[in-house]
Amino acid sequence: MPSPVYVANLRTTVRRNLLDKVEELLVRAGVEGRVRKGDLVAVKLHFGELGNTSFIRPVFVRRVVEVLRGLGAKPFLTDANTLYVGARSDAVGHLETAVQNGFAYAVVGAPILIADGLRGSTGVEVPVPGRHFQTVSVAAAVAQADALVALTHFKGHELSGFGGAIKNLGMGCATREGKLAQHSNVAPKVKKKRCVACGECVPWCAQGAITVDRVAHIDPDRCVGCGECILTCPQEAIQIQWTEGPKILQEKMAEYACGALHGKADRSIFLNFVTQVSPACDCYGHNDAPIVGDVGLASSPDPVALDQACADLVNAQAGNPASVLKGGLEPGADKFRAVYPEIDWSVQLDHAELLGVGSRQYERIEIDGG
Ligand code: SF4
Ligand code: SF4
Repeated sequence: MPSPVYVANLRTTVRRNLLDKVEELLVRAGVEGRVRKGDLVAVKLHFGELGNTSFIRPVFVRRVVEVLRGLGAKPFLTDANTLYVGARSDAVGHLETAVQNGFAYAVVGAPILIADGLRGSTGVEVPVPGRHFQTVSVAAAVAQADALVALTHFKGHELSGFGGAIKNLGMGCATREGKLAQHSNVAPKVKKKRCVACGECVPWCAQGAITVDRVAHIDPDRCVGCGECILTCPQEAIQIQWTEGPKILQEKMAEYACGALHGKADRSIFLNFVTQVSPACDCYGHNDAPIVGDVGLASSPDPVALDQACADLVNAQAGNPASVLKGGLEPGADKFRAVYPEIDWSVQLDHAELLGVGSRQYERIEIDGG
């Protein structure tokens, strides 16, 4: 049976602006039945990297917070730390980045909790019926929340073709260990030229996998892929081996998305912003020209249907010739395949559907009529 996907265009009037449409989309997707009085509600979003400007604007988030408060819930904004070393790889830097990008309490009206704690290791193992995983490590604040509202900037992505609600859930709600498990099937490696043999990484490894001779060594047989050591090296000598190809990575991501919804699949709502559809993810400190013009906003109780509908909406547009697109400019052409020809983005949707996360079949309902 197709899942409903509610779509709003970007036309506004003096009586109905885009913030009103955000609220309407939440209501149409069923927020009033999925969020209850007293609920701790994780509002999962990406606060944007410094220098990036295509993340979801804080004023939209404030309206989401107001809707949730109106239902008597206790919303908090959240994201998990990054796997790679950067501004958002620990909770302190992450919070500072969020505030610098406008997500201050005074603006959004809700506190921020970094979901996987100070260093990205605070998670909960939850069961999934996966091909790759039987359990996944979900950031604790997401796992322990009563309900979830995932706000996603829908855009291209260099590893999964596009990044939508499934990616926001799967990669975005994973602890560092979970992110590493999705990205790699081998232990981190030490870049010998950078290592100064200081030994600072050694006590961080609970498995005793790191030894230091003239340089540090990681024993792959002992390493369990927790990712703890990656941030500890002041020389940035411990590096992730990005080994996983796009197909397996997408399947793993879908399994993590399934885990993020564990126990609250019927207490979750998804809202995608199909605007500033940049070719790559918001983790970069820049965003290249959008590959299509702004499309609109869309919501659903089903993240698979929502991502499928948003991909279809993007691909129905004419491509932006002033963007990275060299081909696929005509309406109907696959814009994501045009940017990343080697990546079949449908894998994440198929696998999520297989796991029961949602359905690729959808009914598109235009909230503006027509
Ligand atoms: S912390 Fe970095 S530089 Fe120091 S021993 Fe470990 S890998 Fe080498
Ligand atoms: S990833 Fe974890 S288990 Fe592996 S070497 Fe680093 S700290 Fe040790």
